[in-house]
Amino acid sequence: ARAGYAARNPQSAAMLRRNQAFMPGGNTRSVLFYEPFPLVMARGEGCHLWDADGHRYVDLLGEFTAGLYGHSNPVIRAAILEALEGGLNLGAHNMLEGRLAELVCGRFPSIERVRFTNSGTEANLMALAAAKAFTGRPRILVFTGAYHGGVLTFVSGPSTASVPHDFLLAPYNDEETATRLIRENADSLAAVLVEPMLGSGGCIPGDPAFLSALRAETEAVGALLVLDEVMTSRMSGAGRQAMLGLRPDLTTLGKYIGGGMSFGAFGGRADVMALFDPTRPGGLPHAGTFNNNVLTMAAGAAGLTQVFAPETADALFARGEALRDRLNALCRARAAAMQFTGLGSLMNAHFTAAPIRRPADAASGDARLRDLFFFDMAEAGFYLARRGLVALMLPLGQPELDGFAGAVGQFLERRAALIG
Ligand code: PMP
Repeated sequence: ARAGYAARNPQSAAMLRRNQAFMPGGNTRSVLFYEPFPLVMARGEGCHLWDADGHRYVDLLGEFTAGLYGHSNPVIRAAILEALEGGLNLGAHNMLEGRLAELVCGRFPSIERVRFTNSGTEANLMALAAAKAFTGRPRILVFTGAYHGGVLTFVSGPSTASVPHDFLLAPYNDEETATRLIRENADSLAAVLVEPMLGSGGCIPGDPAFLSALRAETEAVGALLVLDEVMTSRMSGAGRQAMLGLRPDLTTLGKYIGGGMSFGAFGGRADVMALFDPTRPGGLPHAGTFNNNVLTMAAGAAGLTQVFAPETADALFARGEALRDRLNALCRARAAAMQFTGLGSLMNAHFTAAPIRRPADAASGDARLRDLFFFDMAEAGFYLARRGLVALMLPLGQPELDGFAGAVGQFLERRAALIG
């Protein structure tokens, strides 16, 4: 499969070799690298991508969830072009930032005030800074396998590149351990930072009871609950928090909410966010040249007002659930050691039949099968993340989803001896 992949993609291979002279490993975005070499995409349109060798794919990755609107969505395009007409880099407040802020606050009841960043990573860093300043405490509880940005990776303990935070680590979906740690650190805990579904960690949903325990316990000790909805904000008009009836103190956002442009946001309780009010003495600064850049502000507002209404979010969620049920039914019918975890339009293939409640459960899966799945899907014309992430975008039609289900069925048949 690997040799076939290499033979089919000489341009992608050549591009990597050339770029290795200028970027370490030819790479500037770690998640995109895989052996023997990553595909280079040349163009996208609607729900399709074309690679450097001219192959067409159904895009099932959707830019790791930021590409919700699809490639060159006409509404988003028009908004960006209109903003462009007014000039870039105005070096001042502009006519667009207040509109996007109003839309975000209007959607998420827990977000009383919001500020923008250029990435989800920065949004989380600022939320943690706010929590520490607001509580006057140093410690942050995070979860093994969580991903909150390039410098906030907890796949195997706090990342070495991590900023100097005082992190405590607990297993995901383990209410008892988290509760104990929160209580033991009652006086030093500033915040619990958690994804309502581990996204990069393999689309593993947080149990409602686990998440509400975090809410209750943080409140009891005066720590803040910071909910990272960078990936899950698409689950409904107001993210997974609305579906769970959960009100975090702070929420972080990113990905599609910026219309597909570089984007992040953090917001929540007005009293916490008041830390950033420049008219208040002793507040926290939060600068950033591109925080209010007009292209992102325009694209984001157009998407929320003209494309992704709350009903559209609900419909996309339902389509994702239906697809995941269908794929899992195929796996079960063949008694395969394969399953798709996730929620709504976000799912991840895993190569074990055992229940998956935290990343360690998925780690027992067969890594070679995961690679084979990627190669086979690419050959069949479906592009997804090498780790098995599927993030549905709006322009995908039923024919594309049927086609993917068919390709998964063929994979199960073709590789039956390995997945059995
Ligand atoms: N939080 C979560 C849950 C994410 O999935 C990501 C990105 N995959 C981030 C934060 C970081 O966002 P960005 O890549 O925009 O920095």
